[in-house]
Amino acid sequence: MSMRESSRTAHDPDAATRLPPGAGEAAEVLRVEDLTVSFPTDDGLVQAVRGVSYTVREREVLGIVGESGSGKSVSSLAVLGLIPRSAQVTGRIVYRGDDVLAMSAKAQRQLRGNRIAMVFQDPMTAMNPVHTVGDQIAEMVRSHEPLPRKVALARAKDALDLVGIPQAETRLRAYPHEFSGGMRQRAMIAMAIVNRPDVILADEPTTALDVTVQAQVLDTLLEMKDAVGAAIVLITHDLGVVADVADRVLVMYAGRPVELGESRGVFRDPRMPYTAGLLGSTPSGSGTAAGERLRPISGNPPSLIDLPSGCSFHPRCPLADDVCCSEVPALLRQERAHGAPGQLHLAACHHSDRLAEASDPIDFFRPETTTARGAQR
Ligand code: SF4
Repeated sequence: MSMRESSRTAHDPDAATRLPPGAGEAAEVLRVEDLTVSFPTDDGLVQAVRGVSYTVREREVLGIVGESGSGKSVSSLAVLGLIPRSAQVTGRIVYRGDDVLAMSAKAQRQLRGNRIAMVFQDPMTAMNPVHTVGDQIAEMVRSHEPLPRKVALARAKDALDLVGIPQAETRLRAYPHEFSGGMRQRAMIAMAIVNRPDVILADEPTTALDVTVQAQVLDTLLEMKDAVGAAIVLITHDLGVVADVADRVLVMYAGRPVELGESRGVFRDPRMPYTAGLLGSTPSGSGTAAGERLRPISGNPPSLIDLPSGCSFHPRCPLADDVCCSEVPALLRQERAHGAPGQLHLAACHHSDRLAEASDPIDFFRPETTTARGAQR
């Protein structure tokens, strides 16, 4: 019998949304239920997000991973109502028991930047170039609390101090372009934590930075999580980052969730070929050993206007067969021989058993074994 003895259990459609806390587990703070986001365009309906469900518990780090166009950013922007009015949104977003989409615009604004904050990839576009950094952070305070400007600026200075900006008092009067890239991103983090939110949505927070400062900024974000007691939803294409810092991971492909679980378990024992492919195309640290060649996934993500039939990954998948081309795989609970008892692991694949039995699922992406239908075309 395989070391990774496993089997799929009966489909449990609500499993992804329930995630009941076990003994000693933190309470749920944010829940996204069956979220769909579509954008009407002249070329057709862009199905950006299709049936995404996840929960975020107090103080945890949930990583959302996928290539560009996977829906990971749109699903998070939808949580904050930061998508165009033309977008069609269905599903539920529940913050501490309250349905966010049913709230008034005023109540949603109160939530945004206060209880749920966002750190964007590019602070230069997220910050206003004509206002000082101090004024922008102070404004974030004053938009949620009727405080005098002087008091709000003092809070802004404390936040800059906390994120490690030297001479914070002086830097309050600087403009964003006077900061280095790393300092600007720290200032964005200061803006996100100044109201001590419950959840920080961080969308590719280090992607626009030099490699040398990426780790420092990520460390700052994690330190701030502990300082203010927030949970983090870390949206990234970088599996290595998620493997290092996330408690749980949600993998998305073509707008759909395809794997969800405790990150160590998912990375050690992936049950969906796309996750295995991501691991194989990530430099050493998560999927490949030092000196080993990367094994990229062949082909490109599909058009979100004209999705493939069945499993959206089938044109790129080395395990694809006829059933994959005709039937959408459900997100099913996976049994695992290892890992903490009660940890939920879900995967959407007709052949997850084959991954469970493989000694190394990344091997499916070795060039000599790749028989992806897309590669045959
Ligand atoms: Fe590959 Fe089929 Fe699984 Fe999709 S359902 S990931 S095509 S094996």
